[in-house]
Amino acid sequence: MVEIPKHSMTPMDRYCVFGNPIAHSKSPLIHAEFASLTQQQLSYDKQLVAEDQFPQAVAEFRRQGGQGANVTLPFKQQAFELCDGLTDRARLSGAVNTLYWQGDQLWGDNTDGEGLVRDLLRNGVELKGCRILLIGAGGAVRGVIPSLFEQQPQSIVVANRTQAKAETLAQHFAELGDISSCAMDEIDGAFDLIINGTSASLSSTALPVNADVIQRAKCCYDMAYGSEPTVFQQQAKQLGVSKSLDGLGMLIQQAAVSFERWRGVTPDPQPVYDLIKRQL
Ligand code: NDP
Repeated sequence: MVEIPKHSMTPMDRYCVFGNPIAHSKSPLIHAEFASLTQQQLSYDKQLVAEDQFPQAVAEFRRQGGQGANVTLPFKQQAFELCDGLTDRARLSGAVNTLYWQGDQLWGDNTDGEGLVRDLLRNGVELKGCRILLIGAGGAVRGVIPSLFEQQPQSIVVANRTQAKAETLAQHFAELGDISSCAMDEIDGAFDLIINGTSASLSSTALPVNADVIQRAKCCYDMAYGSEPTVFQQQAKQLGVSKSLDGLGMLIQQAAVSFERWRGVTPDPQPVYDLIKRQL
């Protein structure tokens, strides 16, 4: 008689990512690799959710035994509002990308900022005392500001095409440290690190940022990523910036932080980074 291994008889812990659209999401692949690397038994699926069905989808997932979930566009703010409890960084950023339950209570975290910080540190970018220029004022930029301030940079300037949004962010985070705002075409001064958190790269649009400003940076980071260097990375390279990075590392690292929260183990991000990079 063939003996059935005990673990194959127990239901696997279930995780998922909620979004709309969701077909493009790399999260199932990333988490499957993390599970394999850390020898965890779990399943992780994509869940396409109608825009007005997010709370119902979360409740149904929990009812079916769901242990935790990621949340992507357009539900990060709804997830924030749905949670019973929030980590400090999720509360400050006003958006949740990671859900988990403590008893009956639904908790929310935002791991994007920690993911970005880990990727920058891993690539040898010094953040303490650093002068940071953050370009963009959408959800991604809002989500990373609390974690960047935890690293004690000297200052953060937020610049955005629609200046009023940059101003709102600077006011919102004023208690965390030295933060100011300006319009995209008014950016001036010296920065050690420039982070492009706009979606301009997705349409291969170059940012109208003064070449002098880019030239003086030690590192340029684009939150977007692709099979080729982004337009912003190309701009930086042409202007002689020695380090230009894309956002694939941030994507893998934010997933690693979620995985850690759910499973209590830290996966090595490098093999997963290499795998996804080959597939882009
Ligand atoms: P949002 O839609 O919330 O914000 C978009 C931002 O980009 C706004 O500030 C908008 O300016 C600006 N923008 C859009 N088009 C242009 C343009 N042509 N020129 C200048 N500015 C422009 O998007 P998100 O904040 O969610 O995402 C921003 C980027 O970050 C995307 O590329 C996304 O893929 C990436 N991202 C990467 C992650 C990762 O893990 N690597 C995680 C999350 C996001 P305005 O306010 O004037 O409209």
